[in-house]
Amino acid sequence: MRISELYGPGRPVFSFEFFPPRTDAGFAALYRTVAELKRLNPDFVSVTWGAGGSTRRKTVDIVIRIQQDIGVTPLAHLSCIGSTPEQLARTLDRLETAGIENVLALGGDRPPDYAAPPGAFNHANELAAFIRSRWSFCLGGACYPETHPAAPSPEADLANLVRKVDAGIEFLITQLFFDNTDYFAFVERARRAGIEAPIVPGIMPIISIASVRRVTSLCGAAIPVELERALAVVEHDDALTMQVGVEWATRQCRELLDRGVPGIHFYTLNKSPATRSIFQSLLEE
Ligand code: FAD
Repeated sequence: MRISELYGPGRPVFSFEFFPPRTDAGFAALYRTVAELKRLNPDFVSVTWGAGGSTRRKTVDIVIRIQQDIGVTPLAHLSCIGSTPEQLARTLDRLETAGIENVLALGGDRPPDYAAPPGAFNHANELAAFIRSRWSFCLGGACYPETHPAAPSPEADLANLVRKVDAGIEFLITQLFFDNTDYFAFVERARRAGIEAPIVPGIMPIISIASVRRVTSLCGAAIPVELERALAVVEHDDALTMQVGVEWATRQCRELLDRGVPGIHFYTLNKSPATRSIFQSLLEE
C-alpha cells in the first residue's frame, strides 16, 4: 500500500513509529509492542534509520518482518548520513525486492566527528531526487513546525521544504510538538508557500521526565508553561508523569482531529501503553 494514497478525504490515518533496538531482548520486546499496537489497526508503522552500520541493516530487517510476518504496511526511514549513493542504492534495491513500497527520505543528523563518505548526499531533497531517479517508492519527508534547529530562519527552512517537496516528497510528517498553535501556524505558512502535500502531526506522549528532556534538547521542541507546571508537580513519580503526558497528548490529538488533520503519527518510543491509552480515549468519543 502506498501511504500517500491513504491520506485524503475520509477518516484520519494513524501511524506508529519505532526504532531498531540494540539488543536481542529489545527485538523481542519490539515485535511484542508492534503486535500489541496492531490490534489498534494502525494504517502503517515506521522504523527509524540509525547513524551506525549495524542499526541500518536492522531497519531493513524490521520493516520486512513487519510487512511479511505481522502484516502491517511499513514505512522505512532512510537518511543521507554515512552512506555512499551506492550503499543507499543497495538498501533501496533490497527494500524494493522485498516489496516495501514506502520510504521516509531524511537528511539525518551528523554525528559530532562526522566525515561524509565519497559522494554522500547532504540533504533530504538530494536523497529524494536520487530515489525518484531509479525507484518508484512512495516518498515521505520530515518538517518542523517550530523550525529545524540548524535553519538560519523559518523562511529559509520553509524554502528548503519546498525544494524537498519539489524533489518528489508526497507527504510530510512533523517533528514532535506540544503546542498545536505551532502546527496550525506552520501548515498555514506551508500552504501559502505552495506546499500541497499532507502535513501529518507527529505526537510524542511523554512517558518519563528523562526521555522528554533528552528528546526536546535534541529536537528543540518547546514545552508550554502549562505542561511544564503539570510535569513539575509529578516529576518524581513515573506513573503520574505518564498520566500527565497521556492527558496532554490526548487533548492535543482531539483538537487536531476536530480541526481535520490528515492523520496522526505517534512517536511510540517502542512502548505501547501510552499510545494505546491515547488511542482508546480517542476511539471512545
Ligand atoms: P533536511 O531536509 O536536509 O533539512 C535539514 C536542515 O538543512 C534544515 O535546517 C533545512 O532547512 C536545511 N536544508 C534542507 N535542504 C537544504 C538544501 N538543499 N540546502 C541547504 N540547506 C538545506 N533522524 C535519523 O537519523 N533517523 C531517522 O529515522 C529519523 N526520523 C525522523 C522522522 C521524522 C518524522 C522527523 C521529523 C525527524 C526524523 N529524524 C531522523 C531527524 C532528522 O533526520 C533530523 O531532524 C535532521 O537534522 C534533518 O532531517 P531532514 O530530513 O529534515 O533534513
